[in-house]
Amino acid sequence: MGGNDLREAPENFFAAHRLLSEYATRVGPGFGIRFTVQFNLFAGTVIALGNSQQVALLSEWQAQGQLGCFCLTEKLAGVNSGLVVNTTCTWDESKQMFLLDCPNDGAYKNWISQGLSADMAVVIANLIVKGKPKGPHGFLMKIRQNGELVSGVVAKDMGDKTIGNDLDNAEIAFSQVWLPKESLLDKYAGIEGGEYVQKQKGVSNMDMIGQRLYTGRTVIAGSTLVFARSLYQSAKNYADNKKCWSPQGGVPLSSVPQLAHLYVQTDQDRPQPLRYGCVEAAERERNGARLTATGAQAGGGADPTAPFHEGPASECVTLPKATAWSLTNGIDWLGRFRSNQAQIWEIR
Ligand SMILES: Cc1cc2nc3c(=O)[nH]c(=O)nc-3n(C[C@H](O)[C@H](O)[C@H](O)COP(=O)(O)OP(=O)(O)OC[C@H]3O[C@@H](n4cnc5c(N)ncnc54)[C@H](O)[C@@H]3O)c2cc1C
Repeated sequence: MGGNDLREAPENFFAAHRLLSEYATRVGPGFGIRFTVQFNLFAGTVIALGNSQQVALLSEWQAQGQLGCFCLTEKLAGVNSGLVVNTTCTWDESKQMFLLDCPNDGAYKNWISQGLSADMAVVIANLIVKGKPKGPHGFLMKIRQNGELVSGVVAKDMGDKTIGNDLDNAEIAFSQVWLPKESLLDKYAGIEGGEYVQKQKGVSNMDMIGQRLYTGRTVIAGSTLVFARSLYQSAKNYADNKKCWSPQGGVPLSSVPQLAHLYVQTDQDRPQPLRYGCVEAAERERNGARLTATGAQAGGGADPTAPFHEGPASECVTLPKATAWSLTNGIDWLGRFRSNQAQIWEIR
């Protein structure tokens, strides 16, 4: 996959997530999460918010194998990250630079995936110009130079997790780090003549950052469905190949009536909305779509006055439903499978 595929060939992006989710039941979720951080949260935000020079850098970094991370979540904010952003980035007109800073430890970024290995970061910080806060904006910076953290950046391991320890998660603190003017992802808003300038009316930076999180939820929902199907398939393969004693000789475990019935029932119940949701989401990415305060809506790409349509709202319902199905029914199914198996073992 290329650095710009999210916009130019979004089908590759969604297909890659599906493929990786098939492996996650066997090898762990780490690589899949790193993939989505690299191509959706990091590169996707640069594509969405960056000017053409910034977007062009993605291909260079891709060729060099440089990794990126996405620093949004703050310790104090947690689930309210994005609504609450206490990390600041203050414009200094005399220096023509920004000063990035976490004023207290509540503003430290935490849970940052790939944060212990990434060279680059998109950091979400509250932009301050002439003493006035302008809200969350994305800044593109190098957090490591030749593998070492740059001055003013401290990264710590978040510690052991209950799952997914093949993924590195970091707490990252910024203390008075000077960034060049070019670090502001300024496709929609920037600094001109010392003033904050909104370049496209009606497009807020936070809406475009939110779009990355929305696409993230779409792929997570799709991936969960693939994960549940892979788990189901491996359990079924086991039962198809496991021979049980019977007076006529060995029969497959899956031919035992309780389990055979369960398989038929589960095959009928399984929803199939995954491809529909991803095709729609891919189309929205191709069109440079955006998420608005009123919900997920497809935008008109380069023309901000183009009308919205209601299509993706159905997807908002369908994909979380599919995820909920995967988790509840998948777990329920495995539970029923195990209790049936226990009964069979008892009978034997
Ligand atoms: C594996 C992993 C990878 C991640 N990768 C990244 C990344 O790359 N970049 C990034 O920016 N972030 C990342 N995150 C952070 C993730 O987005 C946050 O974990 C998430 O936003 C929740 O924040 P929190 O963990 O601090 O939970 P908290 O905010 O502490 O919430 C804990 C619980 O309390 C509930 N709760 C919180 N506030 C309220 C309230 N006011 N009312 C009712 N209930 C409430 C929540 O629903 C939740 O159940 C990652 C997290 C994980 C676990």
